[in-house]
Amino acid sequence: MSKLPALEDLGDVAGKRVLVRTDFNVPMEGPDDARTITDDFRIRAALPTIEWLTSRGASVVCGSHLGRPKGKPNPKYSMEPVRRRLAELAPGVELLENLRFNPGEESNNDDFVGQLVAGFDAYVDDAFGAAHRAHASVVGPPKTLPSAAGRLLQKEVEILGGLRDHPKRPFVAVLGGAKVSDKLGVIEALLQTVDALVIGGGMCFTFLAAKGMPVGDSICELDQVAFCRRLLDGPKPIHLPEDIVGLDANGYYATFGIRLHDGAKGLDIGPGTAAAFSDVVMDARTVFWNGPMGMFEDPRFANGTKTLAQAVADTKAFTVVGGGDSAAALAQFGLDDEVDHVSTGGGASLEFLEFGDLPGLAALRGAPNAR
Ligand code: ADP
Ligand code: MG
Repeated sequence: MSKLPALEDLGDVAGKRVLVRTDFNVPMEGPDDARTITDDFRIRAALPTIEWLTSRGASVVCGSHLGRPKGKPNPKYSMEPVRRRLAELAPGVELLENLRFNPGEESNNDDFVGQLVAGFDAYVDDAFGAAHRAHASVVGPPKTLPSAAGRLLQKEVEILGGLRDHPKRPFVAVLGGAKVSDKLGVIEALLQTVDALVIGGGMCFTFLAAKGMPVGDSICELDQVAFCRRLLDGPKPIHLPEDIVGLDANGYYATFGIRLHDGAKGLDIGPGTAAAFSDVVMDARTVFWNGPMGMFEDPRFANGTKTLAQAVADTKAFTVVGGGDSAAALAQFGLDDEVDHVSTGGGASLEFLEFGDLPGLAALRGAPNAR
């Protein structure tokens, strides 16, 4: 596969107008008309690229999506709070309104691409988190504009590509989050390369069900049980919980074994499991972690995720964390600086690990200055 064009491949950018596709899909809270940003990590992550361009005399206009406004303007998804933060971090840099306010963004409409590129001399994609979407602002501009991968996008591709192609072994992937069905492809792809898989979070119950355990009222996808059983029968070790924390039939906090009776709901891995998973992480030389070990938004069910996060922070292994909620959990525990790489892309990092390429990357390789 040919290399992605880099910022240097744009030539002299002084005086040029550059459209930068960023991933400013930041977490927000508060009332719909007065939202505030709870974590500006994704805005700060774009600064190296923005500053590379502005310091060389380019004028930069960023464009991003935010949430899922479904093709029409919606104050809840206005970029205004992001624009204010960006103005503090990178004065003078402009930001377009939420790209997904236009239905042409998600449908990759040619007229919308035309509108986007009008008046620009070059395009930079630094939105790794959107690179798995064949949307107008991701795959459209490189058809006509000289284009480049931003620093963040480049770094993501290098690091995740390294995991795929030459991980130091043992390579352990820790997966959690709500559902197996969100991650079928990546689980299968990871099983090709990892030495062991560790499964926590809501998805562990579908695996436990595949082992014949009753899962009570825990989140469990009956239509994926056969898939999980097939993986469990495969050659690679898959570590599953040995104890569970959750709510009993009366709604009280409780610790269970791995058999959950009717009414019992598993919401976190138990302390024994957290310790066992941590040992696997400590013994690895490469760790990829995606998906919280429990419903960590509720402090009662955050311990499993916190213990695992601490192990990912402490291990000597090369550590990569992908996924919006996993990254948020790391930040919440103050451990985001303790891992080697926190991917800004949730779905994108998983799809890249699965396929080894993404529509946004292919588009850049086809740009006029890259051919
Ligand atoms: P990421 O964004 O890191 O990829 P996911 O979006 O896949 O992670 O999953 C995160 C969500 O999974 C969180 O909102 C968390 O509350 C939920 N979750 C984790 N464990 C459980 C569980 N046992 N039951 C229900 N939800 C869970
Ligand atoms: Mg998520």
